[in-house]
Formats: sequence, structure tokens, C-alpha cells
Amino acid sequence: ACLEQIEALNPIVNAFLAVDPEHALAQARAVDARRAAGEELGPLAGVPIGVKDNYCTTDFPTTCGSRMLEGWVPPYDATVVTRLREAGLVIIGKTNMDEFAMGSSTETSAFGPSRNPWDAERVPGGSGGGSAAAVAAFMVPLAVGSDTGGSIRQPGAVTGTVGVKATYGGSSRYGLVAMASSLDQPGPCTRTAEDAALLHEVIAGHDPRDSASIDRPVPDLVGAARATDLSGMRVGVVAEFRGEGYEEGVLARFEEAVELLREAGAEVVEVSCPAFSYALPAYYLIQPAELSSNLARFDGMRYGLRAGDDGTRSAEEVMNLTREAGFGREGKRRIIIGTYALSAGYYDAYYGSAQKVRTLIQADFDRAFEAVDVLVSPTTPTTAFKVGERMQDPMSMYMADLCTIPSNMAGNASGSFPSGLSNGLPTGLQVMAPPMEDARVYRVGAVLE
Ligand code: GLN
Repeated sequence: ACLEQIEALNPIVNAFLAVDPEHALAQARAVDARRAAGEELGPLAGVPIGVKDNYCTTDFPTTCGSRMLEGWVPPYDATVVTRLREAGLVIIGKTNMDEFAMGSSTETSAFGPSRNPWDAERVPGGSGGGSAAAVAAFMVPLAVGSDTGGSIRQPGAVTGTVGVKATYGGSSRYGLVAMASSLDQPGPCTRTAEDAALLHEVIAGHDPRDSASIDRPVPDLVGAARATDLSGMRVGVVAEFRGEGYEEGVLARFEEAVELLREAGAEVVEVSCPAFSYALPAYYLIQPAELSSNLARFDGMRYGLRAGDDGTRSAEEVMNLTREAGFGREGKRRIIIGTYALSAGYYDAYYGSAQKVRTLIQADFDRAFEAVDVLVSPTTPTTAFKVGERMQDPMSMYMADLCTIPSNMAGNASGSFPSGLSNGLPTGLQVMAPPMEDARVYRVGAVLE
């Protein structure tokens, strides 16, 4: 059924960059064989899944939505992928994304934008718009994404799906092509909170190959996602994330969602987090700084594309030509911003200041979590925008992550859950919890269903 749905809709939605029906069926048969041989498999065994194209997979190319890696097949699997295979999930294909996960619309993908299944003239968010669109269009029940500034949650919100960013260090980044290493984190994209919790439990847990991986047991997320009651829970509404610049319908759905939490027994208070207003500008120094360093490895020598190597050019000329041809506009913009922010003489003023803001954001969270169990906000200020609408104006594109970025800066757990429609388009409620308290995200999000 998934393969048929993909065949019918992918020409419009462009959610998948690579699909291999034969290979998918072979994986499904292998799961049957494992079961027949008496292996105890978990609840997701045999379930088809889409994997964002920045996870290394030995059986599919891993392009990161970039010409730079077109056709590149990694020699190893990401830990997240290994865990999917061990749990018997069937990897049906790789999903579209903004180039190297930079963007909020999938329009920076070198392989064309994905479309929002709710309205094909609109974007499905980004960078993981392919994963969210695939789930929203019933092409697959599950997908995995990665979230550096909102790339799981914002696409979730604008496609009416669930998207959760785990606590930083909760899921392994090994084999997830690095974008901004101190912010990147895997997580599930699904249709329900319970599905997300099931998938989250599969991909979470300690991995010695990720230096930031947390060596603690994975909490009971599925149990939390089955809860229907919030009595004893204190919910903080972030005062800074409900004012000017938010679509009216988004705010209305947000107020209704908060009311539902109250009806489920939560005590709701307003909480001020003043440093959150500086999260976006600080992110756009830290993120490009780390990105410029991580993308330095794409030099035409080690992986993927090599341009202009006709035997007459120096290595440096080939590197320049390769990077000129291989990276899109947004990548080049951020490499320039990032190298500038890190350069001697400017480092303290830009990168150093941004790191101080990051500490203030963490302090805001710490203070808030002394008084409340979770914080909530709209996931994103507007519903899905039109394809092309924001491409010429990077600032308006960056605004899509206004509410999601603080959780990346602080490394805490954060998820987006469908909260109804505004003008016929989906909205999302964001639930933020302290690090390693991912279960609270599910408990609160599940109440909206
Ligand atoms: N939209 C943000 C950016 O462009 C976040 C991307 C992400 O989370 N990968 O950087």
C-alpha cells in the first residue's frame, strides 16, 4: 500500500528522493524470516519507514539534498539506521530535504522542493519537509528527521503531523551528516504521539560512537504517550511567543490547545523567557559557524562531486570549482557568514557573544523549569507558506524557526503536535521539556489527540 501511494503521489509531492520497491519487499520478507526463526521483534517490526537523506545508508545514496553528494553511497549505516534495521523496520526510501538541512521549506534541495499534501502550492516546511510530507500524504506511517533549529517540528506543524526533537544526546548523531554539531539531533515524524514514542524508543539510547551521547536508560515514552490526564502537571505559556507577527488563526488554535491541556487537569501559568527573543540572531551566528567548519570536508577530494579535474589544475583550483558547483546559494551564504564570525578579530564579537546568549537562554529554561514541568508555544508563527514566497528573503525564511530554536540552543526535548486548522491549513503546538524529560513532551502532546 505504501509503495502504491508513493507511486501515485510522489510525482506531485516529491517527498522521496530515492525509493527501492524490490529492496523494500526483500527487507519485509527478511523480517518475516526472522520472526519465523523465533526472534522476538518489537512492535514496529515490518513497518515501512522513510529516512531523511542526511542519514548514512549503505543501501541507498545519501545526498543531503545537495549536488555535492549526488549518487554518493556511504560505506556504513548511521546508528539510527542500524537501530531501525535491528528493530525490523523496512526502509522504503530516502526523503527530500533542504540542502545539508539549511532551510525551512525544502526549496533549497538541489532536487526540487517537496510539496505540502494539504495544498501542493505550499511548502511542507523544512529542512525535513520530505519526511513530514511523506507521513502527511500517507506514503509511510513513520519517518525519521533531524532537528538543528526546528527541522522536525516546523515541518510537523505545517503538515499536521507529529514531530519530536529528542533531548540533545538522547539519540546518536553517528552517521547523521553533521550540520551544526552542538545543535543537531534526530527524532521521529509520525501521525500520532504514540507512533512517535514507539519510534523514539527504537532510535534512542547510548552510543559510544557519538561523543555527546547520554549514557542513561531511555525513559518510558510509549506509556507517557498513552496518558490522557495531566493532573498535577504545571504548564508554562511562553509570554514572548504569542504577540506580533503571529497569524491570527495560529494564535486562536494555540489558545484552544492550552484550554484542552487545562481541561485535562494541567495548571497553566504564563512564564517570561526574555532571552528567547535573541535566540534567532544568536542561532544565525552559531549555526553558520559550526556549519562552515563541518562543510569544509566537502572539498572534491574525499566524497562525491569533483569538478574541473582535467589534469591541468591544482588541488586548490579543483576544490574551488567543486565547492562553486556543488553548494547552492544558502550554503555559500552560511559558509561566508560562519567563517567571518569565526575569524580572528571578530570571534569574540560574534561567536563569543552568541555563545553568551545561548547561556542566557539555558538560564531562562532552568528558571522556568523550577516553576513548571513543560513550556508551550505555537510551533511556528504562520501556517505553510507558498512555494517561492520566501526564497528571495532569507530573513522571512529564518523567522519560521522563531519558536523552535531555543530548545536546540538549550539541548532540551521538544515536540510539535497537531493543534487544528487555520484557514484550512494545519497548526502545531510546541511542547518543551527539560533534558531527558522527553516523556513529558509525549504526555502533554498526546492530550491534543
Ligand atoms: N531552518 C533552520 C535552518 O535553516 C533549521 C534547520 C534544521 O533544523 N536543520 O538552519
